[in-house]
Amino acid sequence: MNAPQRKQSLQLDAHGRLRHLLTLEGLPRELLLQVLDEAEAHDKALRGQRKKQDALLGRTVINLFFEPSTRTRTTFELAATRLSADVLNLQVAASSTSKGETLFDTLKTLEAMQADMFVIRHESSGAAHFFAEHAAPGVAILNAGDGRHAHPTQGLLDLFTIRRYKGGAGESGSDCFAKLTVAIVGDVLHSRVARSDIHGLRILGTREIRVIAPPTLIPAGIEDMGVKVFHDLERGLDGVDVIMLLRLQKERMLGAFLPSPGEFHRDFGLTRARLARLKPEAIVMHPGPINRGVEIEGDVAYGPRSLILQQVSHGIAVRMAVMSMILGRPAESAPRRSRR
Ligand code: ASP
Repeated sequence: MNAPQRKQSLQLDAHGRLRHLLTLEGLPRELLLQVLDEAEAHDKALRGQRKKQDALLGRTVINLFFEPSTRTRTTFELAATRLSADVLNLQVAASSTSKGETLFDTLKTLEAMQADMFVIRHESSGAAHFFAEHAAPGVAILNAGDGRHAHPTQGLLDLFTIRRYKGGAGESGSDCFAKLTVAIVGDVLHSRVARSDIHGLRILGTREIRVIAPPTLIPAGIEDMGVKVFHDLERGLDGVDVIMLLRLQKERMLGAFLPSPGEFHRDFGLTRARLARLKPEAIVMHPGPINRGVEIEGDVAYGPRSLILQQVSHGIAVRMAVMSMILGRPAESAPRRSRR
């Protein structure tokens, strides 16, 4: 079995159903669309009277965040709670990992408490795969961001947001990707979000994907992922439908990747003036946290074309969809797709 096949056999069971979610790379289009459809049903329920479901009743979900998080950790917790799971948040700084316990021993210790699912964020690329390889049968691992490798639920919620605003809900809405030009702007080099977005956008057949950044923030060979590289913001944004901004990941920068945040803003920051020159229907996204005055001007972040807060709220429905597809029952009103 080659490396990509091995990866998929870890994520999918013999019937092609999701066992763990580690990366979007190589996942079948049908499966991605199933997540988006189920998320639609959860989003509808969350906006209605019946916010709580029992798909994960009696199940235990453990959030294990070795790196800081605001949106991802809280929306995973909310998603699991809405599905009636028992949720435990391990305070990593106060746990035995700070005394030198290995990841493997932490996993085995928490498994002994009959955990059903771990949501893990770690600074090392590959940490979630390591957990999935060593997890007991039936224990699911969800990658909430590993180093610069992948952030698959962020990728899914970004696809959900694009479909919602550019195509509408449901199967036919998914055709919208074939008509879209999407630009990912900023620190692509260190961004796990960029990688998951690119994989997801490609699987759904996006017409054109661009990455825009100074040469020092573009990983070598990224063209092999099927994207076009631009080092000039004005040219790169010409004709785009979706702009996905990225934060400068200072915590992952070992050397000098940039002249300064001020110069980055001057050359690559999305300002009101720059936005005004784009298609009027172009939308602005950002996974957060935002650095105002660096990659985005404050007025743009909360302006009428920004979907940043909608992305946060879609994160709950998307994470409910993934968790219930792996551990529980699908959303009651979700349409059935052929794979299930
Ligand atoms: N929240 C996202 C992540 O964890 C993006 C970021 O931190 O800039 O990757």
